[in-house]
Amino acid sequence: MNVILLGPPGCGKGTQAKRIEKAKGLVQLSTGDMLRREIADETEIGVQVKETMNSGQLVSDKIIVALIAKRIDEPDCKDGFILDGFPRTLGQADALSSMLKEKNLEVANVIELKVDDESMVTRITGRFTCDECGAGYHDEFSKPREPGVCDICGGNRFSRRADDNEETVRSRLVAYHEQTAPIIAYYGEKGILRSVDGMASIDKVTAELNEVIG
Ligand code: AMP
Repeated sequence: MNVILLGPPGCGKGTQAKRIEKAKGLVQLSTGDMLRREIADETEIGVQVKETMNSGQLVSDKIIVALIAKRIDEPDCKDGFILDGFPRTLGQADALSSMLKEKNLEVANVIELKVDDESMVTRITGRFTCDECGAGYHDEFSKPREPGVCDICGGNRFSRRADDNEETVRSRLVAYHEQTAPIIAYYGEKGILRSVDGMASIDKVTAELNEVIG
């Protein structure tokens, strides 16, 4: 089964995709994570996209579609995947549709996490992760029990994403409303769109998503 999670930056796509990955045995495919890996590895793609990502703009469809096409051909995707952060434009949605048709695959559910923008700025600018195990924290909502020490692995080094500052978050929200929001109608017309309240608690959102996915 293949699932698409839609919603603005900070709506919880990544957090929820990780939970669904565990519960349903689907592989999380995050284009943001793929791009950050390219940047960290200083690949040709990484060099090309770094500035665009840091300014909050979208990377070109050509680069993104090529990354996804290669990834979904890998063996771990054969039992299903959950797309987190893709598609983000109508062009990407069309490319995905052709790609899946060619492979005789389909999308079972497109789920939109509905949230309000202003809360997303607070959510994103406060978040940080443990360098050691990747556990996520927040300055206000989810602090480590002991300041500076990861609850999960005891690590003491943490990072914030380069694009999680307020100015870039606002650009990312503009990009979402201008370029990504139109695909909600696109999937609505196909009759496979469902909405979940992304302002509810993390556990409540997970429970609702599990119910929708079935
Ligand atoms: P994310 O981790 O999903 O918040 O993505 C971080 C950044 O990566 C975005 O602001 C874009 O610059 C870039 N990006 C990730 N996914 C896509 C995509 N599907 N299309 C274009 N740019 C993307």
